[in-house]
Amino acid sequence: MKAHCICLTNQKGGVGKTTTVVNLGVCLGQRGYNVLIVDNDPQGNATSGLGCRGTIHNGSLYEALRGSAVLREACLDTDFKGVSLLPSSPDLAGLESEWSQGQPWQHTLQRVLAECQDTYHYILIDNPPSLGLLSICGMTAARSLVIPVQCEYFALEGLHAILDSVQRVRRVLNTNLALAGFLLTLYDGRTRLSREVAAEVRHHFPAETFTTIIPRSVRVAEAPSHGLPVVTYDPNCAGAVAYQTWTQEFLDRESQRKSPVAREIKKIDRKPHTSS
Ligand code: ATP
Ligand code: MG
Repeated sequence: MKAHCICLTNQKGGVGKTTTVVNLGVCLGQRGYNVLIVDNDPQGNATSGLGCRGTIHNGSLYEALRGSAVLREACLDTDFKGVSLLPSSPDLAGLESEWSQGQPWQHTLQRVLAECQDTYHYILIDNPPSLGLLSICGMTAARSLVIPVQCEYFALEGLHAILDSVQRVRRVLNTNLALAGFLLTLYDGRTRLSREVAAEVRHHFPAETFTTIIPRSVRVAEAPSHGLPVVTYDPNCAGAVAYQTWTQEFLDRESQRKSPVAREIKKIDRKPHTSS
């Protein structure tokens, strides 16, 4: 077994990266996969969203990246079947300035995760909302990217900015980085803006945008305060059903990786830029 490493990234904040990571992780665990969620964000939202805040004993991602903790020991079991967590801690915020002192940092996460490639089917990296060093490290460690896109104004401009940075990472650090797809999130079908943005993203990126859309839902927003992903907090609500449906779509696309669906970002990038 060699883990498939997926990074959830978007430099824009609050678009549903963490929500998607914890729900995808738990849905994959429910389907029998072994999953490691890497909380690559000093905010630690994936750590608290999985109910693991305060349970860090043998180091966190910060120590693992600095080489002062053993990866296996830093990874926590969660209450969710098949799901482990490499937790974040506030120290992680200082790592970018330590790294910028000069030592090579780009492949640090990739090297750390290489140790557990045989333990997990999937490694899911929750990137912070920036294009800083931690984000680049996350993209360098991954084989493919899922980019959550909030259905709001300026979404398309944001996507072109991400694709530019993805291109740079591909060119210099990770030539095999592929795009798993764009996931439309926080969709409110009652508003014209949500409907228009979703239609526009699909128009520009028809093959790359997942069919499933994640609706805006109060239950999704409530779940993290209970330390639960919505798929266990309220499995029958619209948000939970959407995450289960999307997980299946994601797996189906994975199984057809050689198909045009798994096309590379280079091809996408040739499309003309039109603003929303
Ligand atoms: P950041 O960039 O700060 O890391 P993020 O991209 O990880 O943010 P989330 O933390 O997943 O975004 O979501 C932002 C907020 O929106 C959270 O409070 C979350 O509970 C809420 N949220 C996410 N998805 C939904 C949804 N489908 N319906 C309602 N609320 C949602
Ligand atoms: Mg987040």
